[in-house]
Order: sequence, then C-alpha cells, then structure tokens
Amino acid sequence: MITGLCSICGKATKTPHSCLSCGAIVCADHYDFTSGFCPRCRHRLKIVESRPASQSNLKIRR
Ligand SMILES: [Zn+2]
Ligand SMILES: [Zn+2]
Repeated sequence: MITGLCSICGKATKTPHSCLSCGAIVCADHYDFTSGFCPRCRHRLKIVESRPASQSNLKIRR
C-alpha cells in the first residue's frame, strides 16, 4: 500500500501530493493545486492565496 503522511497535519492521506519545491508530502487539504507548493513553501515564497473573506478577521462591530 502506498500511503502518505501529510507533513503539515500528520494525517495519512490516500492521495499524497508532493510539493514541487521541497518535495514534502501533503494531503489534498494542504496542497495548493494552483501553485503546486505546500503551505510552508507558499509562506516562504510569500505566495498570497486568495481566500474568501469568511476566515478573515471581522472587525465590523458596533
Ligand atoms: Zn494535511
Ligand atoms: Zn514545500
């Protein structure tokens, strides 16, 4: 059986993806398909991911 352990969350993933930069194995949840990098390399290369504003800090309070 070929299974991979995500280097980010440490969970076993059925579909391991290897980072194009460092070769780390990450799960589909942490692998960025657009850039092909793991979250660490994305942070290292300062690749800003366009995320929905749902997780951003909502400072709108009255
Ligand atoms: Zn993961
Ligand atoms: Zn990487």
